[in-house]
This record gives sequence, structure tokens and C-alpha cells, in this order.
Amino acid sequence: MAQIDWDSLGFDAYRTRTVVLAHYRDGAWSDIELTETFSFTIDPFMQGLHYAISCFEGLKAFRQKDGGIAIFRPDKNAARMARSARFLGLPEPSEEMFIKMCELCVKNNLEFLPPYGHQASMYLRPLLFAPHPQMQLVPYPEVILAVMCAPAGSYYGAHLRSAAAVIPGDFDRAAPKGTGSYKLSANYAGTFVPYKIAHEQGYAELLYLNSATREFVDEFGSSNFFGIKEGNKYVTPLSDSVLPSITNLTLQEVAADFGMTVEKRPIPLDELAEFSEAGGCGTAVVITPMSHIDIKPVLREPLVTRSFRYEPDGAVGPVCTKLYKQITGIQFGELEDTHGWCHKI
Ligand SMILES: *Cc1c(COP(=O)(O)O)cnc(C)c1O
Repeated sequence: MAQIDWDSLGFDAYRTRTVVLAHYRDGAWSDIELTETFSFTIDPFMQGLHYAISCFEGLKAFRQKDGGIAIFRPDKNAARMARSARFLGLPEPSEEMFIKMCELCVKNNLEFLPPYGHQASMYLRPLLFAPHPQMQLVPYPEVILAVMCAPAGSYYGAHLRSAAAVIPGDFDRAAPKGTGSYKLSANYAGTFVPYKIAHEQGYAELLYLNSATREFVDEFGSSNFFGIKEGNKYVTPLSDSVLPSITNLTLQEVAADFGMTVEKRPIPLDELAEFSEAGGCGTAVVITPMSHIDIKPVLREPLVTRSFRYEPDGAVGPVCTKLYKQITGIQFGELEDTHGWCHKI
């Protein structure tokens, strides 16, 4: 195997060694299997493909300072996948099985786990999908849970560098009482084209508003929104159509540990002008501080009707820096894990 350059990892699909699989059919889970073939045989009529009966998770394993290995808060991902599965009418993997499969994925791909000291980690991607061939629109009690992994640097290539975001006036992400709060594969389909247009215009992120009234901030395409106000307030949206991010939850707890006030409530669009820092948060990125957020009535067109300015391009504010250092310090075992977030394997 070619030597991996741990310092130049991005965030991408990767052909590692082993995929961990379990199959639920006839009312029971199979034994957990390890496969190195790196391909699935699927029925062309499978529901997962035709109707997006599929959900996933994302979490990370770290080689820590003391040489040990820890997965960050896998119990939270297990619970969230169970919730997504219930929404889709699929059998739920138990927390115990979910965590065991994640552990096996790390242990059987150890050569892809970045060593301590490169700010890199192993991204774990559990995928739960319906393999059953069926045209009817009814849930069928059969699923495959596959856990795969990839060595990961940070999503944007470098570490904690600010990026620009755009609020598209002509695209929505999730309907009220729809699928937005579940980690469904389907939620991503509608973001590909707007992301492509945004990237062509130099925006790294899309910030979606609540689709019912377009008066409040919901979240970025694949990460939650937070803003910092008056130096010591962490504000993040309360909305039925936002995905409950585990990184956001962790940041709220870290902010509270720092004595900051945490506000989880609807954020009116105008309030974007009142934050000193604003960022996106998610497992892949941890934090992406925003340099500015533009509003465009039509994403494809050049007209910007309003622009909220935070950090100069590339710069990062003090609160984002402090929160980021705390969370990554705990993940790499450099700071005391007082909340018991690191699941050692
Ligand atoms: C996964 C995801 C996030 C981030 O959740 P984390 O648990 O922090 O990784 C945010 N928004 C969307 C839409 C997501 O799918």
C-alpha cells in the first residue's frame, strides 16, 4: 500500500480495506460480516435506489495523544440512526450493534487511522438502506447496515479557515414537518445543483431559511448554524426542519462549560447583522467560521441584496477558535474528557 500523506487529507470517499455489514431479514439481524470485496450486489428494483429508502450517519475515530483510540459520541449517532430508521419504517439497529460495527470498522482498517499529531482522523460512515425489490410504496422489513470509513483531514482542506456562504432565494432544503430533521440520503439530493452553482461563485456553503415563511435561519446544506453575540452568547436555531447535529450539541455544552449563555430559538434573518461571529458546525468540519453571508434572490444571478460581514477572508474569530480548540483537544485526548464523550476502543 502506498504511504498515505496524513497532512494533505481532505474529506472524500476512500477505498480502505474492510466494510462491516449486517443484514436484517425474516425478523432478525444476521451475524456481523466483514468484507473486503468493496462492492455490493443489489437488485435493480431495490427500494433504496428508487425511493431513497436510505439514511446514514457520520462520526469520527481518533488516535489520541496517549496512543489509544476513541470514537466520539457514537451513542448519539446510534440514537439518531434509530430515529431515521423509524421515520422510514425500517428496522432499527440497536445501540450496541451500531457501536460494535463502528468499532470493528476501525479495528479492521487500522492502517487507515491517521497517527496522532496530524490533526486528522478516521471518518466512519454507517449507511442503512432497503435492499428489497419492490415497486409498492410500503415499507418492507429488510435492511442492510453497512459501516465504511475513510481517513479524513478537514472538509475544506485546511484547518479552521473562514469561508463564504450564500442564502439562496430560490431554493429550499426541507419542508416544515417534512424530512429535514432526519439524516436521510434524500435530503441531500436537492442540494447538489444549488451547491454546484454556489461553488462556482466562490461560496463554500449554502445557508437555508425556514421554507414556510423564509423569515428564520435554518441551517447550512450539511451543517448546523450558530452565531456568537455580545462576546458570550452562543445562539443556534430551534426549528423542526433542522438536523440535530451532534457537533452543535457538543459546542453548546462546551460553550456552557466556558460560562457562555446558550440560546436555542428561532433566529430571525435580520439578527444575522448582530452576530460578531457566525459559523457552520458538523462532524466533518467541526467548525467552519463564515467570513460573510450574502443574500441572493436568484442564486444563478449576480445580484446580492444584502451581505452580513464577519471575519475578513481566511481569518477566524476568538470564540470560534476557543470552541474549536476545546472540542478537538478533547477528541485527541489532549484535554480532560469531563463529559465522557470519548468511547475508547
Ligand atoms: C449530518 C448533518 C449535520 C451535522 O451533524 P453532526 O452530527 O454534527 O455531524 C448538519 N446538517 C445536516 C443536514 C446533516 O445531514
